[in-house]
Amino acid sequence: MNPALKILIGAVMVIVGVFSSVTYFEQLVNLVQAGIGPLLVLVGAFVVWLESDEWKMRKEKDSREGLQQQFQTEEDTSSSVEQTQEQVKEAVEQEGHTCEECGRTFDTSRGLSIHKAQKHD
Ligand SMILES: [Zn+2]
Repeated sequence: MNPALKILIGAVMVIVGVFSSVTYFEQLVNLVQAGIGPLLVLVGAFVVWLESDEWKMRKEKDSREGLQQQFQTEEDTSSSVEQTQEQVKEAVEQEGHTCEECGRTFDTSRGLSIHKAQKHD
């Protein structure tokens, strides 16, 4: 479609719109006033639905987190030694793998064991 034609149609729509707004101004006001009620109902219901849903979810999440915490504290006491060992292992892994015999470091334990097998066995 021709852009000029579209502009013309748009302009006509604006003019007709303004005219009908002025002509039916009272009805328009009535419409707005009448529309406020249903709009409020819709928005209100939406807010209630949304918030109650969120509230429910938060409550569920809280109780789940509570259970998890309980579980974690039980785990903590039973496996604190294991965890410490794990942490030490991780620290060593981050530092790299050092050969006890020549001091060379390797990114992986596999690399270190290959090195040991090749150089020190
Ligand atoms: Zn070595």
